[in-house]
Amino acid sequence: MTSTSLRADLAVHGVAVDAPVRRRAGAGPSDDGHVLLGGVGAALPIVPTSKYRVRGGRLLLEGADLGLDVAPVARPRFYDLETADGVPYEKIARLHGRDVLATTVVQTCIRYGEDERCRFCAIEESLRQGSTTAVKTPAQLAEVAAAAVRLDGVTQMLMTTGTSAGRDRGARHLARCVAAVTAAVPGLPVQVQLEPPADLAVLTELRDAGAVSIGIHVESMDDDVRRRWMPGKGSVPMAEYRDAWREAVRVFGRNQVSTYLIVGLGEEPDDLVAGAAELIDMGVYPFVVPYRPIAGTLATEVDRATAPPSWLVAEVSSRVGDLLSAAGMRGADQKAGCAACGACSALSTAGG
Ligand code: SF4
Repeated sequence: MTSTSLRADLAVHGVAVDAPVRRRAGAGPSDDGHVLLGGVGAALPIVPTSKYRVRGGRLLLEGADLGLDVAPVARPRFYDLETADGVPYEKIARLHGRDVLATTVVQTCIRYGEDERCRFCAIEESLRQGSTTAVKTPAQLAEVAAAAVRLDGVTQMLMTTGTSAGRDRGARHLARCVAAVTAAVPGLPVQVQLEPPADLAVLTELRDAGAVSIGIHVESMDDDVRRRWMPGKGSVPMAEYRDAWREAVRVFGRNQVSTYLIVGLGEEPDDLVAGAAELIDMGVYPFVVPYRPIAGTLATEVDRATAPPSWLVAEVSSRVGDLLSAAGMRGADQKAGCAACGACSALSTAGG
């Protein structure tokens, strides 16, 4: 098995874990499956029935040792702190992988009504469960980022947002948050993620606030797939995405702009790879990830959608990895964000 197919198989089937690899319940990223696999960050579903098992810090396939060390990412120390007004830091931002601080600055979305919501999205679930707050203030984020860098060696931060009703799609609040964080922790690279804003000038405002890279996530470039899986967001014409990507590349630079492409939404693999090629030509990094059923989403609870076969994830990742490598675009060359982290994708093992 190649490293790309192993990585794809793990992303689809997940791993079963024995104590003490799994930390105590609710204790942070290790429970979400954030591990170091052969020293590299990987976000893997924890699936008790998986054919892969982590035991004694090693990865086993049906009992056979695959020769890879697996270590859980330790619970970060900043999770034990809270703001002066009593909000636990871990409700404001979370550790992803080994050293990425991630936050959703606005945890609500104008598209969360049942007929508009992206069927794979659970943005308001964690809010309902009380594990996060609806709006993170710039001051809170600055405080948490400073602690996460000081106590846990965080090296980059990403800020995403639910979509707001304004023409900026939430960009202005993001810009205020980025400015506060970069003032508190000069030099911490911050990526922002948002829908294409109607007013493209806000992309420059985000860069001027201190953001160094940006994700404008389309998930699929196939309009049928978009309408089916993202009835609200899919109504934004692809032309608006293309305009936003072009302007973002002009403002942030080639390979500092990324988008998600999800394998397993029903798109033809050749179409997905052709879309990735178009993005790469534009200077946009296509972050290829498998669809994963997540509790609380319409896709899981209503549609009973399942993960794609791992051969498909491996094939698409490998073809897109070849295109990225031919173009000299590596996720690791992004200054911040998911492509820089890479834990949710098999692309970095496929040359991207
Ligand atoms: S790839 Fe993105 S979502 Fe996945 S662990 Fe890294 S930062 Fe988080």
